[in-house]
Amino acid sequence: MKIDILTIFPDFFRGPLDYGIVRRARETGLVEINIHDLRAFTKDKHRTVDDRPFGGGEGMVLKPEPIFECLESFGDVESRKVRLSPGAKQSVILLSAQGRRLDQMLAAVLSALDRIVLICGRYEGVDERISEHLADREVSIGDYVLSGGELGAAVIVDTVTRLIPGAVGNQASTQQESFTETRTESFIANVDLAGDGPSSTCVSGGLLDYPHYTRPADFRGMAVPEVLMNGNHDQIRSWRRKTALEKTLRNRPDLLERVALTEEDKELLDQVKLEQIKLAQGFVTEMGKTPFLQKIVSKKSTGTK
Ligand code: SAH
Repeated sequence: MKIDILTIFPDFFRGPLDYGIVRRARETGLVEINIHDLRAFTKDKHRTVDDRPFGGGEGMVLKPEPIFECLESFGDVESRKVRLSPGAKQSVILLSAQGRRLDQMLAAVLSALDRIVLICGRYEGVDERISEHLADREVSIGDYVLSGGELGAAVIVDTVTRLIPGAVGNQASTQQESFTETRTESFIANVDLAGDGPSSTCVSGGLLDYPHYTRPADFRGMAVPEVLMNGNHDQIRSWRRKTALEKTLRNRPDLLERVALTEEDKELLDQVKLEQIKLAQGFVTEMGKTPFLQKIVSKKSTGTK
């Protein structure tokens, strides 16, 4: 895969793309990453990349010319129309807080492409003609505003690269992670590359990952769950599924609504919920013993009435 990044801060990428899986993938030629300085595509002596917004208002806007010219200088980027058609193998992505939110499924879709171009915005953003006429999609890395697209581009490179077959030593490990469970090649091939696509992790049917432990078995009195050391693979599998369900229920209950749960999952989830209710009841009983906490509890219960 070839990845080109367009930025006004090329030095930003010294570091983030030079470690671990991404570094190895670059060294072995699985992925080629080129960083392009947008200022090299300006024509005035001040190398101006930004200008004031039409219609007034705060801040500056990245000009369209250097971005168009940089992309055109590659010579091998397909037309926007081709990139938007089914089976496209290239994507020009504008990093934008207004974009479709990146998730594991979008990363999987992108990892199947041959060529990705990432355009990093700055200031108040990028002239809208980039999104309308040059990029084929806008991607956001989360519901918050960054000061530039560079961190987002690094996030996309990282998550996409590790999904390219051969990038991670044990390919199976990328299929058992959070959000990822039953991702299939045929599903990816059928995903609408250009549009909004099916939402997020439904492709993986994914829960969050189960907890991992390593040696020592007892660290300062904090013991590794017994079940992981008894060698009973059936029990370990069931424990892992249950803890994954428990963690998903606690941290990302929204994911549970999209996951296709098996009968066993449903039973395990019922157990988890029951345990939580018992825990909560125990907690209230415990608190009831302490006059100070009793006050808080009674205040809270009257407060909610
Ligand atoms: N005025 C814009 C924010 C501009 S921030 C707005 O309110 O939507 C400057 C640049 O940072 C953007 O052009 C974009 O490239 C990048 N950026 C900001 N937030 C981002 C996010 N959540 N995901 C990806 N890129 C983001």
